[in-house]
Amino acid sequence: MFRRGPHAAEVSPPEDLRFTDPAVPERSCCCPARPVVKVVMPPTADRPHPVDLWLCGHHYRASFAALVAAGARVEDLDTAAAAVRADHAAVPA
Ligand SMILES: [Zn+2]
Repeated sequence: MFRRGPHAAEVSPPEDLRFTDPAVPERSCCCPARPVVKVVMPPTADRPHPVDLWLCGHHYRASFAALVAAGARVEDLDTAAAAVRADHAAVPA
């Protein structure tokens, strides 16, 4: 009834680290979506160690101001090159 096309088996796996790196979880901490950023929350007086948060794009954008205010470090997972680059959220002037 339904036949696969002749090139169906030739689809290569995605190069995106979100899909290939076993260190990247399939779900965000905030919702079932795949994470697009890894946020490292710095230690506080109540929490003596840093905490990793895996956020989807929607919740990252929604909480960006709070993350900046908290001095969070953000690692973009969108591309392989971005995984090497670690952006630091800018502290407002
Ligand atoms: Zn989310």
